[in-house]
Amino acid sequence: MFKYPTYRVTKFSQMLDSCPVCGQAYEPEPGFYWGAMFVSYGFSVAIFALSGVGLYYLAGDPAVWVYVLTVAVATVLTMPLVFRYSRALMLYLFGFVRYNPRWAEPAEQQPRKA
Ligand SMILES: [Zn+2]
Repeated sequence: MFKYPTYRVTKFSQMLDSCPVCGQAYEPEPGFYWGAMFVSYGFSVAIFALSGVGLYYLAGDPAVWVYVLTVAVATVLTMPLVFRYSRALMLYLFGFVRYNPRWAEPAEQQPRKA
């Protein structure tokens, strides 16, 4: 789906227009990925909660600045992954794009859609 690897900090968000194998469009309609912000928000809340609960129990409830710093660092470090998984999930859940494990087989051998 993406042009560059996740670790390319300045380019991780650039997407291909369509799948190089099957031609599936990666942006089914203009503004499709606005909804991915809500998926991303869900990931962020999970990161906040895991960081907070982890610090409370593993680090013995440290000072507030430790919570703030940890959540900020965790959010920045996971941002490329959150961005990509949010878009992939958006395409799966709301674009109804599914992976076909038999994509390499000729069309006449593909299972028919109901
Ligand atoms: Zn494809």
